[in-house]
Amino acid sequence: MPTTLADEERRAAIADRLDETGGSERWRDWRWQLRHAIRDIPTFEALLGVRFSAHERGRLDATLARFPLSITPYYLSLIDAKDYANDPVFLQAFPRASELEVMPGDMADPLAEDKDSPVAGITHRYPDRVLFQVSNVCSMYCRHCTRKRKVGDRDFIPGRDALKEGLDYIRGTPVVRDVLLSGGDPLMLADGYLDWILSELDAIPHVEIVRIGTRMPVVLPYRITDELVAMLRRHHPLWVNTHFNHPREITASSRRALARLADAGIPLGNQTVLLAGVNDCPRIMRRLVHRLVQNRVRPYYLYQCDMSEGLSHFRTPVGKGMEIIESLIGHTSGLAVPTYVIDAPGGGGKIPVMPQYLISWNTNKVVLRNFEGVITTYKEPDQYRPVFCNRNCEECRLSLRLEGAEEYQALGIERLLADHDDAVSLVPAGNERLGRRSGNGAGEADPAEAGEAEDVPGEG
Ligand SMILES: *Cc1c(COP(=O)(O)O)cnc(C)c1O
Repeated sequence: MPTTLADEERRAAIADRLDETGGSERWRDWRWQLRHAIRDIPTFEALLGVRFSAHERGRLDATLARFPLSITPYYLSLIDAKDYANDPVFLQAFPRASELEVMPGDMADPLAEDKDSPVAGITHRYPDRVLFQVSNVCSMYCRHCTRKRKVGDRDFIPGRDALKEGLDYIRGTPVVRDVLLSGGDPLMLADGYLDWILSELDAIPHVEIVRIGTRMPVVLPYRITDELVAMLRRHHPLWVNTHFNHPREITASSRRALARLADAGIPLGNQTVLLAGVNDCPRIMRRLVHRLVQNRVRPYYLYQCDMSEGLSHFRTPVGKGMEIIESLIGHTSGLAVPTYVIDAPGGGGKIPVMPQYLISWNTNKVVLRNFEGVITTYKEPDQYRPVFCNRNCEECRLSLRLEGAEEYQALGIERLLADHDDAVSLVPAGNERLGRRSGNGAGEADPAEAGEAEDVPGEG
C-alpha cells in the first residue's frame, strides 16, 4: 500500500491547519506529532470536516470529562472522513457516549494488576516474569484501553527514583528472567532515559530477556528513528511487541518503522484486541495477520476484550474469536496464527482458548479432526516405556546437563501431572466441604488429598 498523492495532500492539509508555521515540513518529527496531538472535539471536527449535533456534543463532552481524548495527527490522517462512523481508526480513537455505561460485571481493574503489585510499577503475576510500567503516558489514547481507569490520570513519566524501586525489586528477585516494559507506552521516554533503564536491566544477571510493549509503530511510526533503533540494538536480547488491530493501520510509514526494528535484529510480535465493529471478522483478521508476517511481525496474541469499565460496546462473544481462529488454523501459515487468550478477571493471567481438535481417544488411538473436517486417527506407540521422574536430572538418561542444582517447583496443573509429587487435586482455599471434614475450621484441607489450596475466588 504505497502512499498516494491524495494521502500526502490530506496530511499536508492537516499539518498546516495544526501548525501554520510549516507543519507539513515537520510532519515526520515525532515530537511535533506529540505537541500537536488532538485533544478536543472542535479541532477534531475542523480537521476532518465533520460536525456533531449539539446533543452529540453534550454526550461527547461528558465522556471526555471521564476518559480524555488524544490522537496523533498521523493516526487521525488515517481516518476516512467520508465514512468516519464506521472507520476502524476513528472507532479506536474517538470517544463514544457508551463508554460511560457501566454494565453489570464491568470492573475498574479487571486484571487485578494493582493487587499483584509488590512495588509501584511492577505487576508480578507469573512465576518467572514481570510487567514493569515505566511510562504513564501514551501518544494516543486507545478507547479500548484495559487500563482505562488510569488514562490521562496524571500525564507524567516516572523519575529515576520511582523506577529504582521497580529495578530493585527485579534485582532482588532472582526468579525473574523476563521483564516486560509496558505503560503507558515505553517509547514515550526519551532515548537516553530508556537507554538507562535497559542498561540497568542488562546488568542484572538473572534477567535473560527484555520485551517492550508499544503502540508507536501503529499510532506514531516516526518515533522509530534511526537513533532510537541504534540504541535499542545495543540491548539484545530485546523483543518488541506492538498492537495492530486492523489491516488499514499498516501504512507505508508503519512498514518503514517495522523494517527498521526488524533490521536491527529485534524480533517483532503483535497483540491484537478483538473489538466489535473494528475487527470482529475472519476476513479482516486474515488480511491483518498476512500483512503482519509480510512485515516480519509474528502475530502473538489475539485478546478477548477485557471487562474494564467503559469497554462493553467493544466486547464480542468468545464465539467470535473462536470462529476467527477456526478460519486461520490450517487455512494459512502456522506462523500467522496468534494464540487466542482471555485475560482472567481477578488476576488469573492469560488463558488460551483455542478450538478443539482432539475428538476422542482410548489407550490405543486418538481421534482428531482437521480444519477441513477430515476425521483421522493417530495410533499410540506400543513401545513407550514411561520413566518415573523423581526430578533427579543428574541420573536421568535424558541429558539435560544442569549447571549446578537448579531448584524447580512444579506448580498448578503441572504439579498434578508430576510423578514425584503426591498431590492429587487442587482445592480452592476455604472449601466448605473439606472444612467440615477436618472439623477444625474452614478451609483446613487434608494436604495429602487436597494438594494445595490455590484458587481464591473473590480475592480479585
Ligand atoms: C501478559 C502479561 C505478561 C506476559 O505474558 P506472556 O504470556 O509471557 O506474554 C506478564 N505479566 C503480566 C502481568 C501480563 O499481563
